[in-house]
Amino acid sequence: YSSKSLSAPFCLYNQSLNNNAVEKVNISALLKQAIELQEFELWYQPIVKLDNQQFYGVEALIRWPRPDDSYFCPSLFIPIAEQTTLINQITTWVMQQVAKDMLYFDSLGLALCIHINLSAKDLHDTKLVNKASTLIKNNHTSQKVMFEITESAMMIDAEQAKQTMNYIAKFGGKFSIDDFGTGFSSLEMLRDLPIQQIKIDRSFINNIHHQDADLAIVKSVIYLAKHLACSVVAEGIEHPDTADLIQSLGCDLAQGYFFGKPMPKDSVGQLLHQPIRSSVN
Ligand code: C2E
Ligand code: MG
Ligand code: MG
Ligand code: MG
Repeated sequence: YSSKSLSAPFCLYNQSLNNNAVEKVNISALLKQAIELQEFELWYQPIVKLDNQQFYGVEALIRWPRPDDSYFCPSLFIPIAEQTTLINQITTWVMQQVAKDMLYFDSLGLALCIHINLSAKDLHDTKLVNKASTLIKNNHTSQKVMFEITESAMMIDAEQAKQTMNYIAKFGGKFSIDDFGTGFSSLEMLRDLPIQQIKIDRSFINNIHHQDADLAIVKSVIYLAKHLACSVVAEGIEHPDTADLIQSLGCDLAQGYFFGKPMPKDSVGQLLHQPIRSSVN
């Protein structure tokens, strides 16, 4: 791999700038242009099955390169895009790119579940159901898709979010709750929405070896997921000990720098043809 594809993209803007109104205006103007000029890249981070050490799939993560080889950080520009309808255009681009990349993964003989992040506003975009069903119903590929939604996204207009998710589910769409435990967690949501997977937020995983409360929460979420017939992903696995621990707790799937950082699709092809643990750098 090139060093660019292995290292975490360097964040051009730090958190303090995110609160600055002038910066926000500048970034949204740049974002508009970036959408028009199709300046984004879609990278993928592997998600692995813990029991047999096989690849389960990848999460699609947007990258916005700057001319100087650095990247804008998605956790800074996505929230700005979410304040406008730019996010809907970004999601449309992501879905179009995934459709293309599905063909690429097919050509490599891979069969992955590709995770796509959706924002709250996407659930209120009347065209989303159409776009999502086009991806789901594509029989010409052995790739599958799953949509990641945060708890907070579903709280904005719970009724409309539910309706959109139910429509997409009718077409065979699957949903995963992202960053579980950090938003406005509601058990009602787990009961009433078509959800097939829970992703335990990285903040509960980081200190699982040292914090009894984190361990208790992770155990309970795994238990809850099992009893709801949902699969469960542990996010942010950075060390082999953590992978072993969460596997011993019955966690199905894992994602994190230990297994692989987000990378361009060509690197996914190379990585997935090696055994998982030996590919760790
Ligand atoms: P997310 O959906 O929770 O994605 C996981 C984030 O955690 C990614 O950050 C990933 O690079 C990072 N990560 C994965 N494993 C590890 C680890 O072991 N350690 C650490 N420290 N971090 C890890 P990224 O790519 O910077 O994205 C940040 C957030 O931006 C995403 O969080 C998601 O909320 C949003 N985002 C990214 N791409 C998209 C997109 O295409 N659409 C939308 N709507 N949101 C996106
Ligand atoms: Mg996600
Ligand atoms: Mg996440
Ligand atoms: Mg997150």
